Amino acid sequence: MSEPAPTPSVKKVLLAAPRGYCAGVDRAVITVEKALDLYGPPVYVRKQIVHNKHVVSTLEKRGAIFVDETDEVPEGATVIFSAHGVAPVVHEEAAARNLKTIDATCPLVTKVHREAVRFADDDFDILLIGHEGHEEVIGTAGEAPEHITLVDGPDDVERVTVRDPEKVVWLSQTTLSVDETMETVRRLKEKFPALQSPPSDDICYATQNRQLAVKQMAKDTDLMIVVGSRNSSNSVRLVEVALEHGARDGHLVDYAEEIDPAWLEGVTTVGVTSGASVPEVLVRDVLTWLAGHGYETVEPVVAAEESLLFSLPNELRRDIKRLSGADAATVRHDAAFEDTSSLH
Ligand code: SF4
Repeated sequence: MSEPAPTPSVKKVLLAAPRGYCAGVDRAVITVEKALDLYGPPVYVRKQIVHNKHVVSTLEKRGAIFVDETDEVPEGATVIFSAHGVAPVVHEEAAARNLKTIDATCPLVTKVHREAVRFADDDFDILLIGHEGHEEVIGTAGEAPEHITLVDGPDDVERVTVRDPEKVVWLSQTTLSVDETMETVRRLKEKFPALQSPPSDDICYATQNRQLAVKQMAKDTDLMIVVGSRNSSNSVRLVEVALEHGARDGHLVDYAEEIDPAWLEGVTTVGVTSGASVPEVLVRDVLTWLAGHGYETVEPVVAAEESLLFSLPNELRRDIKRLSGADAATVRHDAAFEDTSSLH
C-alpha cells in the first residue's frame, strides 16, 4: 500500500500583540492633532514627532511643518518637541526666540532625563547605552554632557573610561534590544564591578513587550515582516530580535507595497508585527496584501496586555481649557496615568 501524500502545510500569519502605537507615540501624535485643531495651521514640530513616514506625511497634510532646529521656526510661533525628548539647550534656544513650546517628550524618556540629572548632581559618571546620533540619546546626553559617556553596544565597552570606577552608573535609550543591552551591561560590569544600575528599567514597557511577542513567534516563523520606518530604533530592533530568535528571514517595510513577493518563496508562516510608532492601518494593509497572496489565516500571538495612556502635555491642556472652554477633564487622555515609577 502506498504512503498517503503529506498534507500540504496551511499558509498562515502569526500576528503579534502587542504591536504598533505605544502610549508615548499616541500622546505625541494627538498633541500635534489637537494643536492643529486649537491654533490652526501651521504648527511647527521640531524633528519628526515620531519616527514614522506615514504619520509625518499625514500630519504635514494637515498643516504641521517639521523642522530640524528651532531657528527655522518664526519668532513667536508655536513649536512642539517630539516624543524623543530634547536637551535643555533646546528649551533655552526656543525661549530666546520667544517661541511658544509644547513638549511632547514621552514621560518614559523624561524619566531617563531625570535619572541623568540626579546621578550627575551626585557626581557620578553616567554610561548611557544607546545609538550614536539618535535624537533621544542626544536629548538625554544634553542633560549632563560633562558626566555622560555614550556606549554604543557591547563592542564599544573596551574604549570606555571613567574618572572613578567606584562611582559609575549605566542608563539607556528606551528603545534598545533588551538582550544586547544586557550583554553591554555584562561587559561593563566586568570592567567596572561597582557599576550601578538605573533605579528601574530604562528600556520602556512598549519596547520590551513588542520584543517579547516577536521572540515567542520567531521560531515558528519563516518570514517576519515588521511594519516600521528605517529611522525607528524600536522597529529596526524587532527585525534583529526575530532573526536572532529563529525567524528564517525578516524585513522592515513602511508600506505593504514594499513587500517583495519573492520573499514568500517556500514560506508557510509569516510573522507580522509593527514598531511603536506605527498606526494600525498600515498593519491592516499588510494583512490584506498577504491574504491576497494566500495567507488568509491569521493567528494572534499575545505576549502582554497594554492599557497605559499618558496625559497630554500640561501646556496644551491649559490652552484647550482656555481657548475652547472645554473642561480639561473631558479631553482624551486627561485622566491617564502620570506616575511612571511603577511601569517597569
Ligand atoms: S517607545 Fe517607549 S519611550 Fe518611546 S515613546 Fe513609546 S512608550 Fe515612550
